[in-house]
Amino acid sequence: MSRRKQVYEGKAKVMFEGPEPGTLVQYFKDDATAFNAKKRGTITGKGVINNRISEFLMTRLAEIGIPTHFVRRLNMREQLIRQVEIIPVEVVIRNIVAGSLAQRMGMEEGTPLPRSIVEYYYKSDKLGDPMISEEHITCFGWASTHDLDEIMQMSLRINDFLTGLFLGIGIKLVDFKLEFGRLYDEHDQMRLVLADEISPDNCRLWDLKTNEKLDKDRFRRDLGRVEEAYQEVARRLGILPEGAPGDVKGPTTVQ
Ligand code: C5P
Repeated sequence: MSRRKQVYEGKAKVMFEGPEPGTLVQYFKDDATAFNAKKRGTITGKGVINNRISEFLMTRLAEIGIPTHFVRRLNMREQLIRQVEIIPVEVVIRNIVAGSLAQRMGMEEGTPLPRSIVEYYYKSDKLGDPMISEEHITCFGWASTHDLDEIMQMSLRINDFLTGLFLGIGIKLVDFKLEFGRLYDEHDQMRLVLADEISPDNCRLWDLKTNEKLDKDRFRRDLGRVEEAYQEVARRLGILPEGAPGDVKGPTTVQ
């Protein structure tokens, strides 16, 4: 890892300069944080599994025409991505009441929503990612009304697609968080693309029959069997790394 220039270190990932201009290497760590990093821990093998799950889901989404920053997986913990200008807005899509929505509205977790809800949060660790509206996003110039419409439409399409994909493997997609970025081509034309990752770190995934949680809530709420839950999602998607978790070897340097 030390031979390449680190561009950014986040809570669950590290970005390095990529092999070509306009690319980055996204390295997935086993570190886990919750409640704005007040709770910290390690989920052994998480980085390896999230790298695979995110590769799988981004590839499926690209196949249905969703532009993404993903280029290809490089090794167990790293993937090559296009460098984008991240829009500082976290887009949360909800199908079932859970988490902060349950708390905020005093509603019981598990209540189905009559239609999906899209929420926006300002990406700021310092401020604890406050909830914002479209008005804030356009007023502060984070995205235009036009861009926001596109983000909303893409988010709902992603939700429809992923809901079906997970249902097919006996999992309810309760809610999830997306991030988008701006990608500029050689003519300086801008395209909005899906960025970051999609994994049990930023999705709530419940078993269809038992409602067993198969996501980061197991870590947030000290439910135990955290590693097993991430592995179970990968297993059902048919992408469990061979021999995991014993096969988890940690970082491999990209030449
Ligand atoms: O906590 P809350 O209920 O608002 O989270 C909604 C969804 O967004 C959950 O799936 C959670 O994992 C995800 N999320 C995230 N990163 C954040 C906040 C929420 O991935 N900073």
